[in-house]
Amino acid sequence: MVYHRIKREFPNISFDTVNRTLHCLSEKGLIRKVESGYGPRRFDANLRTHYHFRCSNCKKIIDFDCSEYGNIKIPEGIAKRFKVLRQEIILEGICPECLTKNTV
Ligand SMILES: [Zn+2]
Ligand SMILES: [Zn+2]
Repeated sequence: MVYHRIKREFPNISFDTVNRTLHCLSEKGLIRKVESGYGPRRFDANLRTHYHFRCSNCKKIIDFDCSEYGNIKIPEGIAKRFKVLRQEIILEGICPECLTKNTV
């Protein structure tokens, strides 16, 4: 998606260049890679703490905030075993748009 958008402005740019640039930005912490589990890799320019909702119908990933999720404690057994740097919450279901369109 990023590639196609950039290509409109710079028709000669290669997919590789775009891909490398995205990786470079994510290494610098300017954007964040989102592991969506399937589909193309997604990069997130939203670096605030937020969570993701994935629509299993249109495959869209929607950002949302939820202070309650921010309060979830890492269970002791897990904290002992791993050094957790970030926890990610991905919910999956049907997005409001698909629900109103009634395509499911
Ligand atoms: Zn949807
Ligand atoms: Zn996001």
